[in-house]
Amino acid sequence: MRWSKLESLARGTLWAIAALAGAITAAPSSTAQQAPAAPVARFVVVLDAAHGGDDPGGRLAGGQLEKAATLALSVRLRSLLAARGIAVVTTRETDATMPPEKRAEIANHADAQACLILHATESGTGVHLFASSLAPAQAVRFAPWKTAQGGWVTRSLALAGSLNAALLHAGMNVTLGRTGLPTMDSMTCPAVAVEIAPERGPDNAITAEPNDADYQARVATALAAALLEWRTDAGRTEAGQP
Ligand SMILES: [Zn+2]
Repeated sequence: MRWSKLESLARGTLWAIAALAGAITAAPSSTAQQAPAAPVARFVVVLDAAHGGDDPGGRLAGGQLEKAATLALSVRLRSLLAARGIAVVTTRETDATMPPEKRAEIANHADAQACLILHATESGTGVHLFASSLAPAQAVRFAPWKTAQGGWVTRSLALAGSLNAALLHAGMNVTLGRTGLPTMDSMTCPAVAVEIAPERGPDNAITAEPNDADYQARVATALAAALLEWRTDAGRTEAGQP
């Protein structure tokens, strides 16, 4: 409620400034006949740092816990996205215990165009991307809990494709898969689980751990680039297609 009031206030101020500028320059108004721009939905990304609090997740090299690595990645990605003008909603900012349904509730409330569930693992290599293993279903307003993602899974696969392309472009090793995760399966947004695994050299020796700051920064940069492109595509779809 307060938002819409603030917004209309801000808009009123802008109109006043525009009118004043017009009066001062007295330029012929070439824009007077233009139709007002169609309202564009706010582009929101949800970042869900998996695990936290009582749930440490897996154990990484050096005894570090997965819950700390996912939070660090979430914080990095949040600041990169914010710097690019993308609104971000996170499910946690601290070492808090968060049940899957609470995470999905936050994500679904945000009405997001992309939801990333962040995991970290010591096994495998590079970045693992998972879309929900639910079969595609018609999106309905009140979808049953834990299968709600079925209505979005086609978009989620497209989002996974975009993330994959950006990570490959950044020289990362990527594995694509489908999985069942309670948090993701309850989300009503294009959702992808991003699991960061160690980076390995040609001899399979680990060159960067999942919690390595530089490695995380490179992964986050590639993910941010993909989400920027996703935003452009979302805008195009909204403007051009029925
Ligand atoms: Zn995990």
